[in-house]
Amino acid sequence: MIPVAFDYQRATTVDEALKALSGDSKILAGGHSLLPAMKLRLNQPAKLIDITKITSLKGIKEEDGEIVIGAATTHAEIASNSLIKKHLPFFAEGASIIGDIQVRNHGTIGGSLAHADPAADWSALVLAADAVLEVQSSSAKRRIKASDFFTGLFSTTLSEDEIIIGVRIPIPPTGTKTNYQKFAQPASRFAIVGCAVMRKPGGKTNIAFTGVSDTPFRDSAAEAASSIDDAVNAAASNVSIMSDHYASEDYRKHLAKVYLRKALQAVS
Ligand code: FAD
Repeated sequence: MIPVAFDYQRATTVDEALKALSGDSKILAGGHSLLPAMKLRLNQPAKLIDITKITSLKGIKEEDGEIVIGAATTHAEIASNSLIKKHLPFFAEGASIIGDIQVRNHGTIGGSLAHADPAADWSALVLAADAVLEVQSSSAKRRIKASDFFTGLFSTTLSEDEIIIGVRIPIPPTGTKTNYQKFAQPASRFAIVGCAVMRKPGGKTNIAFTGVSDTPFRDSAAEAASSIDDAVNAAASNVSIMSDHYASEDYRKHLAKVYLRKALQAVS
């Protein structure tokens, strides 16, 4: 449980962090996924670049009709933020039930998205909210739709030379309802099934799952349904469902339907 020796650099600006970032270095945010992986020697970076003191990566603001969350903003900060509670209440609900208080006080939204754990809560939430991730390398900035970001188990379209700098979410129209439901692994609180829904006035409902498959996903079949029963019947039908010692494939699929029903009932 002792990591391989590594160098450490605390960056104070994004440019400084990007300059230090190379093939054998890793960004360190909350450390709640990276450090356990290093202790298990699943990850052996030669250098860690700490981004937690970069003020431009922290905080939540409203800008150009969007809520912008800095990548190094902690789960706890998001859970208690008034803009989030007003416009994206399911982000506050989801953030408030991540792990335990230590995890929420250190873990960050950017770290969670970059890590892309298949049972992470943020993935379903950003997918359901039509979020866009803002990323930066030493040569360019680009924006990646959440729906284009996750590519598989612990994998994303983020390049090794890029840092997530923020998450941008269009402010939903007045009357939008959101909900997040999670069947949590009892020890870690990771999602065995997590279901995020956003229902806009006029009836269009975004539905996203985490924990169900190795990649979080928007459930287009359930979204196309015209009743709660039809959505529940259609749910999780076009994906390969994970099976592990916490939940078999059949049980996970059943849970996905149960938790989707709860979420849809909450926004109807
Ligand atoms: P780190 O561990 O510092 O980094 C994770 C990875 O992301 C590393 O590869 C790092 O290089 C990279 N990275 C970090 N920030 C950036 C960035 N801005 N740009 C590019 N790459 C970056 N998560 C849940 O969703 N739900 C849970 O219920 C839950 N329970 C947990 C319980 C425990 C006991 C623990 C230890 C963790 C739990 N987590 C859970 C995970 C937790 O939320 C982590 O904090 C999170 O997944 C990673 O965020 P971090 O800031 O700690 O990132």
